[in-house]
Amino acid sequence: MEEALRRAVAARRAETIGRAGALIRVPTLNPPGDRYREICELIAGWLEPMGFDCAFIRAEGTPGDGARHPRWNLLARREGTGAGPCVHFNGHVDVVEVGRGWTRDPFGGELVDGRIYGRGACDMKGGIAAAITAVAAFLAVRPDAPGAIEISATADEETGGYGGVAYLAERGVFARVDHVIIPEPLNKERICLGHRGVWWAELETLGRIAHGSMPFLGDCAIRHMGAVLAEMEESLYPALAARRTAMPVVPEPARASTLNVNSIHGGQAEPEPGFDGLPSPVVADSCRMMIDRRFLAEEELGAVKAEFRAAVERARARRPFDYRLRDVLEVRPSMTDRDGPVARALAEGIRAVLGREPDYVVSPGSYDQKHIDRIGRLRDCVAYGPGRLDLAHQPDEYVEVEDMLESALVMALALGRLLGPGDEVGGARRG
Ligand SMILES: [Zn+2]
Repeated sequence: MEEALRRAVAARRAETIGRAGALIRVPTLNPPGDRYREICELIAGWLEPMGFDCAFIRAEGTPGDGARHPRWNLLARREGTGAGPCVHFNGHVDVVEVGRGWTRDPFGGELVDGRIYGRGACDMKGGIAAAITAVAAFLAVRPDAPGAIEISATADEETGGYGGVAYLAERGVFARVDHVIIPEPLNKERICLGHRGVWWAELETLGRIAHGSMPFLGDCAIRHMGAVLAEMEESLYPALAARRTAMPVVPEPARASTLNVNSIHGGQAEPEPGFDGLPSPVVADSCRMMIDRRFLAEEELGAVKAEFRAAVERARARRPFDYRLRDVLEVRPSMTDRDGPVARALAEGIRAVLGREPDYVVSPGSYDQKHIDRIGRLRDCVAYGPGRLDLAHQPDEYVEVEDMLESALVMALALGRLLGPGDEVGGARRG
C-alpha cells in the first residue's frame, strides 16, 4: 500500500496548496470568532464529494457565541464498508490576531519558494489541508476500507475550545471514536503526546482611593501589587525554574514550571481611543493581575495554587493589604501512552516516510486534546502535523508545502494501519 499512497499523495500537491491557501483567505480571527460558518462550508465542499456526511453544529451559549459571531463547527463522517474502528482528524479553524511585522499579506495565502504564507498557515490551516489530503489519498487507494473516518473543523481553540471541541465532546461525539489525530504544527518528525497543565488566575490587590496630591490619605493598590511582584521575583520564580518534569516537553526550557504575568491593570481605566484629556489625580484603589501558570505532571493543581497564595501572603507580611484571588481557567496535564495505537501507527509512518525514529514530545501549551481526554474520555489522541511550532502566532507565519505532503503521507499510512489491511485499487492486491 505504501507505494500507492505515496503516488496518491504526490498527485494531490496542487490540491493541497490550493486548499491551504483557500483556508488562509478566510480570516477566521478569534477573538471575536469571525466567519466560522463560511470556513466550515468551504471544508464541507471538499469532503462531501469524498462521501462524507457533513453536519454543521453551532455551539450555542458558549463564550462569545451570538448572532454576530456564532460558534459553528463542522463534523464530517464517512462510513466504511464494514465494522471497524473510527479514526478522527480534528483541526481548529480559528486564528489569532495578525499583529505587527508582516512583510506578506496575512490573509493572502501566497505561495513563495515552496512556502505558503498567512495567519494560520502553520497553526493550523496547513495541518487541516494535510489531513484532508491524507484522507483523500487513502480513500483513492482503499475506497472500501472498513471502519469510519471523521474530520472535524472546530472553533475557538485559541480561546480555550469551549465553543469547539469541548462542545462536541460534551455531546458525546467522541464516544464513537477510537483514535484522534490533531494536526497541530508540531513538526513532521514529532508525535505530541500531550501538554502541561494550566492555571489562569486573577489577583486583585485592594487599596483606598484618595486625592493624588495626598497619597498618605489613601492606600495604593498598585504598590501592593509591586510588593507581590517583588516577592515573586525573589522566591517564586527561582522555585519554579528549579523544578523539572520527566515529560518530554519542548522547547527544553518548558520542562520547568513557568509563570507568565499576562496583564496588569491598576488605577484609572485606560481612556477611550481618541480621548486626549488629562488624567485626574487619584490613588489607585484596585490593581488586577492576570497570571498564566503552566504546571507539570508531577505537580498537583492544589499545591500550585497554594504556592502562589503563599507568595502573596509573604508580600502581605511586609505591607498589609487585602486581596482577592479568582480562578479563571484550570486544565490538568494530559499525556497519552507512546505505545498506544495512534502513536504507534504514526511512528511507523514516520519511519517509512522520513527514514528516522520519531521524537516524542509534550507541548508547553495546552490544546484541544484536553477536552478529548477529560470530557470525551478518549485517551488515544495525539497531535501530529506539519509546520514549525515556533512560527505559530508569529509575523510572516508560513507552512512548507513539502512538510504538508510528507506529513499527509505519514497520516495516510497511519490511517491504513489503524483501519486494518484491505484491498487497494489500482495497484497490487494484498490480503
Ligand atoms: Zn493551534
